[in-house]
Amino acid sequence: MEIFNRDGIDYTIEDCSVSDIFNYNEILVLKVIREILWKDQTLCRCPICIEDLFALSLNSIPPRYIQITSIEKYLNSANFISEKTIREKVLAAWEKIKAKPGH
Ligand SMILES: [Zn+2]
Repeated sequence: MEIFNRDGIDYTIEDCSVSDIFNYNEILVLKVIREILWKDQTLCRCPICIEDLFALSLNSIPPRYIQITSIEKYLNSANFISEKTIREKVLAAWEKIKAKPGH
């Protein structure tokens, strides 16, 4: 399997760059994980647990890809997923990792 990173991905289609389309929930997951780690100093901070938490959380939350200019529209749409719901999913992922850590 070819190993790649985000910097190596070509986001150009025809003459249009789609690099400004992002998963809004990914940003919220990052924010929530940082808050959870800051509040609970007992949680494991090894790279494996943090990566597992990020991946498991994102896999449990439907992505919401939006344009940077459409944030307000998304926040008022029926598809909006609240930060409270995202926090619950992250905490559920964290419980799974705590029960069976990959480190
Ligand atoms: Zn760990």
